[in-house]
Amino acid sequence: MEACACEQCVSACRRDPGRLVPADVRKIAAFKKIGEAELCRRFLVRIPAKGRDSHVQFLAPAKIKAAHFLAAPGSVVPDYYADEAGRCVFLSAQGQCLIHEVKPFECAAYMGCRHTFLGRPYKEKDVEAFFISRWRKAQDQFR
Ligand code: SF4
Ligand code: SF4
Repeated sequence: MEACACEQCVSACRRDPGRLVPADVRKIAAFKKIGEAELCRRFLVRIPAKGRDSHVQFLAPAKIKAAHFLAAPGSVVPDYYADEAGRCVFLSAQGQCLIHEVKPFECAAYMGCRHTFLGRPYKEKDVEAFFISRWRKAQDQFR
């Protein structure tokens, strides 16, 4: 499948990579032909949810800024992480997604040209609640 390259979506890849749902871990690891633990250790960061749900963590591709990771892959990101723009570890130098066929759920559900998530206007609070509901019962993946 050819990777999408519209600027509206790629600009999100350059700033704030999309979050995974738990099932994405297996799919992306299989696509990259590595184990799930290795995928998490080399490419993904752990992002705590905001507010009273901060005990719930999501996985997302690591961000890179000026050739350095903003937070080390495998680690829990610091508080300021969400405010720091960084390019996705899976974005090629040509601006294409290197895991397009198995991209994280948020990347696939987000339409940059319409600013929607699953066909509805993108509202940060609602999208966060969606990922909290998906990850709440999957926290064993972090043990
Ligand atoms: S995984 Fe692919 S689509 Fe998602 S942010 Fe990274 S480069 Fe963009
Ligand atoms: S969702 Fe819209 S902006 Fe994104 S790749 Fe598809 S057509 Fe382009």
